[in-house]
Amino acid sequence: MLDLTIIGAGPAGMTAALYALRSGLNVGIIEQGAPGGQLLKTEKIDNYPGFADGVLGMDLATNMFIQISAFENFQLINDTAKKITRTSNGFTVDISTEKVETKAVIIATGGYPRTLDIPGEKEYSGKGVSYCAICDGFFFKGKIVAVIGGGNTALEDAIYLSSMAKEVYLIHRRNTFRGSKILVDKLKSLSNVHLVLEKIPVEIKGDNKVSEIVVKDVKKNVISNLYVNGVFLAIGQIMNSDFVKETLATDDTGHIVVDEKMKSVIPGLFACGDVITKDLRQVSTAVGDGAIAGQMAYEYLSKL
Ligand code: NAP
Repeated sequence: MLDLTIIGAGPAGMTAALYALRSGLNVGIIEQGAPGGQLLKTEKIDNYPGFADGVLGMDLATNMFIQISAFENFQLINDTAKKITRTSNGFTVDISTEKVETKAVIIATGGYPRTLDIPGEKEYSGKGVSYCAICDGFFFKGKIVAVIGGGNTALEDAIYLSSMAKEVYLIHRRNTFRGSKILVDKLKSLSNVHLVLEKIPVEIKGDNKVSEIVVKDVKKNVISNLYVNGVFLAIGQIMNSDFVKETLATDDTGHIVVDEKMKSVIPGLFACGDVITKDLRQVSTAVGDGAIAGQMAYEYLSKL
């Protein structure tokens, strides 16, 4: 039986693991993809303390994983968590083929990209429609692309894509941005980025590959077309919390409610990172949450 099972190997989960491992706990992380989570989809992080010139998301993810892998009391379980059940001496976490027995659990599963659900989006997914600028931007070198959204992801994606694409349209449904001012200012300084504000995408068209996006002016209700080769969607996240819904209540946006010690209402069950209800979702806050969750899990297990 594991002392602690962490679900999700993003920055929150890996930091929780680091603190728990250093306290001597036997720790398993269940991760369905590569360790790193959202870090793997972020080219460069400019606001992580200690890196004055920024740090590549891939490098930060790799170093976090190297750091925890060095512990003998660590194991990576490459699988998907399907259900958490309370037992008389802890919890079982159902994965594809077996049940992981554990004394405590930390949920650090983050989220996945929200879709627009407009005509053409599914049809052209992988044929010009993308949810990851870092993964697919390279294919649009010298081309014209649109980025949808007004949060930090959309702003960062537009900045990143402007370095390789010929033209970037940032399409946002309002005329103010949810994302940070420093990114908005940078974006406005780039000559090949064009802000298309108060417009919502209504259709993505093409012929085998994306060739245009149809947008509607939210005030005038007027339809217009932009000729683009690629559409990058960055309209927020849906939380990976469905698998806990039978065990634990989430808020109406799927976030898990925890206290300042990352404790849920169930003793021994913690959550941290983007998946919890909070105001600021950053790598730095994920890491902070993870440290607290790892330490609180240790304290919980010490008292058993
Ligand atoms: P987000 O902050 O939730 O922003 C989503 C954006 O998409 C909003 O501008 C929203 O418009 C727009 N949107 C949502 N649904 C839409 C729809 N159906 N049609 C058109 N537009 C739609 O999501 P995010 O940018 O992915 O960021 C998620 C979290 O990660 C945030 O807390 C963010 O700060 C954090 N993050 C931080 C960094 C960083 O600091 N380096 C980088 C990336 C992400 P409205 O504004 O009108 O609602």
